[in-house]
Amino acid sequence: MEEIIPLTSVKGVGPAVARLFAMIGVSTVEDLVLNFPRRYDDYSVVTKITELRPGPVTIRGQIEKITGRYVRRGMHVTEAVARDGDQSVRLVWFNQPYRATAMKPGATYFISGLFELSFQKFAIMNPSTELESDFPVNTARIVPIYRETKGLKSTQIRRVVKECLPSIRATTETLPHWIVEKHGLMSRAEAIEAMHFPNSPTHLEEATKRLGFEEVFGLTLAALLNKHEAMTESSLQIPFVAQLATEFVSHLPFTLTDDQKRTIWQLYKDMQGKHPMNRLVEGDVGSGKTVVATMASLMALEQGYQVAFMAPTELLARQHADTIYALMKPLGYESQVGLLVGSMKPSQKSAAHAAIAAGQTRFIIGTHALIQEKVDMQKLGLVIIDEQHRFGVEQRKKLQAKAGHMPHVLSMTATPIPRSLALTLYGELDISIIGAKPVGRLPIITSITSPNSVEAMYQAADAQIEQGRQMFIVCPLVNDSEAMVGTKSAEEVFKKMSQGRFKHRRVGLLHGQMKGADKAKIMEDFVAHRYDILVATTVIEVGVDVPNATVMIIENADRFGLAQLHQLRGRVGRSSHQGYCYPVLSDSKAPSRRLKAFERNNDGFKLAELDLELRGPGAIYGTFQHGQLDLRVAKLSDTKLIAQARQSSQEFIESGESLVQYSYLAERVTKLRAVTNLN
Ligand code: ADP
Ligand code: MG
Repeated sequence: MEEIIPLTSVKGVGPAVARLFAMIGVSTVEDLVLNFPRRYDDYSVVTKITELRPGPVTIRGQIEKITGRYVRRGMHVTEAVARDGDQSVRLVWFNQPYRATAMKPGATYFISGLFELSFQKFAIMNPSTELESDFPVNTARIVPIYRETKGLKSTQIRRVVKECLPSIRATTETLPHWIVEKHGLMSRAEAIEAMHFPNSPTHLEEATKRLGFEEVFGLTLAALLNKHEAMTESSLQIPFVAQLATEFVSHLPFTLTDDQKRTIWQLYKDMQGKHPMNRLVEGDVGSGKTVVATMASLMALEQGYQVAFMAPTELLARQHADTIYALMKPLGYESQVGLLVGSMKPSQKSAAHAAIAAGQTRFIIGTHALIQEKVDMQKLGLVIIDEQHRFGVEQRKKLQAKAGHMPHVLSMTATPIPRSLALTLYGELDISIIGAKPVGRLPIITSITSPNSVEAMYQAADAQIEQGRQMFIVCPLVNDSEAMVGTKSAEEVFKKMSQGRFKHRRVGLLHGQMKGADKAKIMEDFVAHRYDILVATTVIEVGVDVPNATVMIIENADRFGLAQLHQLRGRVGRSSHQGYCYPVLSDSKAPSRRLKAFERNNDGFKLAELDLELRGPGAIYGTFQHGQLDLRVAKLSDTKLIAQARQSSQEFIESGESLVQYSYLAERVTKLRAVTNLN
């Protein structure tokens, strides 16, 4: 299957059918055979007609008498009788007039369908039928159900997959033979066939295991290879200056948590090492990652190195610049801190560039576009990537090229991923977890609110504002032209709040389509408490830190994913004031399991695990699309499989075998090594 065979070369697939397949993302034979079923119907047990019980059944019978007629306008009924021995059963199809001519009376068929009451008599309803054979695909087996599209049903997909069985069976092995043997894995060819046409549930399970193993093997191999490569790089060793750290801490308005201290200590150790640091700090929203990163930067600055701090949005970059400026001030390091973002005025921007070139600004804060900026980073010692999970090999190479050496890299994320999973996905990173929140934080009170009871919510919110607190109202859209029926837009809500319910309060509006500088101004005004209420889109989702805000209203909460909801909620409860979160439903229907889980749980790690359960294989807390990691079958909740695959990739590397001889694997591993969340 190495060569690309267009689907039209398969018997019975003309251009029209090929176009339908293209709609489900299948244009080559390889696409087709790797387009695994979404689910299966078990019609494998062939029952005698005398033994039929209500439910899904399969019989082997001869067709007698098949007739079709319209019972009324638009309602066609085909009826037939199927016989095995001296027993017979009625078959009924609705609105499938072709049935009557498609089936040959007297021939023996496999017939699979639901055996149930129809017009007071039992019958097999709308059954699939196919001439008796050694290899039925629609009946008398575990039947694959594919993703379908108008005009392309699973029946036809099965027929085409069956045509491709010769190429499926000729599939070459992609894993090293010794690994296949050691873990008693099915061959790739058998596994692919079994995914489409399993002989039994165990057969299917084994196939899933084999293909899942291969996927995770590739993933972990990519991570380990990245790690090995990093071990060949040498670093700018940055010494730890205890006195500097002590002084910094002495000026903090709070005491660091134990997790923060432990993490900072790990960063200092890494930065003193011979190889560049590549560490991910995972900490739930509000756990205090910014101060940790700032402390790491201190040591780099002290040695005269540059620090680049990259945030996902300009809004956040600006905010970080303010925070870090304030944190650095007591040490007199604040003059080294500078902002560099796209929306700055040309004059400001060239001033920023000049300050960097002159070595005056050495702590540069910007968006992820910073590595594309034409700034001299010959002295880059540390790169901090906020709200990012992974910095792919390509990005690392770019950095290295730019700096002339590999700087230390610190990534930070508030998307908590269960540890075993994190190790698989980010195997090349060292991981620190900030689990505990600062003391004195009260758990946020979350109450799902139906559209009929918003008034009570507004009253509670207004009481908070009365006490001097502030509130966010988040909407899924900017304006009504993006219209989804029943979905609130920020502009509409802003109008309603500022002219209606909250006309006695100061209400601001913030959304992604505004100019960068305008956004910054609004945010600045909100931080300075010139607004009581900020109506916003999800531009404020990540990172924004306004400790005085205690109320978060999320309109059309059902439109958001669990991770996003948790991030939004994390905008409040960032001080010792009690925080409140009100997810407002789009309609008065009962809330989903997802929302109820959100209401009950304040812990990001717990929610991540729940999300994994709720959304099943491949879904990791909204972090990755299947496409990016290329996972079709692996269940990332299958810790045993993951451990085996990881162990094997370690063994593979130790074996010294070259990846080149496994071209399929090599190609995938190369792709995965470059995976990054940037861009
Ligand atoms: P995140 O981990 O979400 O990036 P931040 O770094 O923005 O969180 O910190 C959230 C808030 O908590 C900030 O206002 C910060 O000043 C404060 N904070 C950080 N560490 C502590 C601590 N140890 N005790 C009290 N407040 C803290
Ligand atoms: Mg943050």
